[in-house]
Amino acid sequence: MTVKAYGTHASDKPLEPMEITRRTPGADDVQIDILYCGVCHSDLHTARNEWKNTLYPSVPGHEVVGRVAAVGAKVTKFKVGDLAGVGCMVDSCGHCPPCHEGEEQYCDNGFTGTYNGPLYGGENTYGGYSQTIVVNESFVLRIRHAEKDIAGVAPLLCAGITTYSPLRHWGAGPGKKVGVVGLGGLGHMGVKLAHAMGAHVVLFTTSPAKIADGLRLGADEVCVSTDPAQLARHAGQLDFILNTVAAPHQLDTYLQLLKRDGTMTLVGAPAEPHPSPNVFGLILKRRSIAGSLIGGIRETQEMLDFCAEHGIVSDIETIPMHYINTAYERMLKSDVRYRFVIDMATLKTPT
Ligand code: NAP
Ligand code: ZN
Repeated sequence: MTVKAYGTHASDKPLEPMEITRRTPGADDVQIDILYCGVCHSDLHTARNEWKNTLYPSVPGHEVVGRVAAVGAKVTKFKVGDLAGVGCMVDSCGHCPPCHEGEEQYCDNGFTGTYNGPLYGGENTYGGYSQTIVVNESFVLRIRHAEKDIAGVAPLLCAGITTYSPLRHWGAGPGKKVGVVGLGGLGHMGVKLAHAMGAHVVLFTTSPAKIADGLRLGADEVCVSTDPAQLARHAGQLDFILNTVAAPHQLDTYLQLLKRDGTMTLVGAPAEPHPSPNVFGLILKRRSIAGSLIGGIRETQEMLDFCAEHGIVSDIETIPMHYINTAYERMLKSDVRYRFVIDMATLKTPT
């Protein structure tokens, strides 16, 4: 079927209306009419080919919530009319060890991204900046939030799981001091989730104007990371740091804040590398630098249920589809409070 979408044909071109083709739902497929789609910084990296792997035309969007419009004959978990979510993946090989362990994002054969196709070649896929998406039910998530909250649920499908998974993996919880670096889409979810898990949360921001929001969102302390005196107060204090920054920066600034055996996990994926950290900052206190990629489908459902139980949604600014190019420019200026979410009804009736 042909559906309306919004995407780009080249790295230096703005996003614009286009039409794409979706497959007719197969026996295991769920067809979802998209209500809202969050805007992730990865959408911008991809639309502009900053990771040098973009297939064009590119239709971004992997924070998708909508209503089930049709289901295939073998679908058991969803029925027409249900709310449903789709995150960053729409398929994986299903038979390698990571897939068996429910860690499809680390699939040995490369998962299929919701947009920009399989990691290791193959056909392009088109994301959530569109009217409708068709996805195998194994990659569709159940939404238990109240219907009135679903625009704020959309960003949980990427920003939520990308912060939840490492916070769980490295044991954020009572008695732990957790640093979150950067108060953007991922960072603000990191603050909310680490707080809900019971950790003592220290937010590090380059934007003094975000201090009050940081405290409101759940940080116990906020440190303006451009002020060396404020940073020095946290030296050697933190068990774990979740670094969400989307641009290259000095990792040493934050590594020195870890306790002995502490870990800083990078989830930000800048186009250019960070300057090399000072090896003595690692050796002398047995510190680690790690990375983490979104989360598996099982853990994404666990995160959505955790958020429904704790009344957690993303803080959003709802935008019409045609505003997307301006939204990208604002994201680059760290001017997002704290996730743009596209109201997909505006794609059907452009203004
Ligand atoms: P975002 O909303 O733009 O937030 C990034 C935040 O980083 C900004 O709000 C800003 O916070 C801080 N920042 C930006 N430039 C900075 C600089 N030069 N120096 C220091 N701080 C800076 O982006 P996002 O959607 O949260 O995504 C963040 C990154 O994670 C992107 O690279 C994205 O591609 C990546 N990502 C990774 C995964 C994964 O699985 N690992 C999943 C999704 C996204 P302050 O104003 O508070 O300083
Ligand atoms: Zn994302």
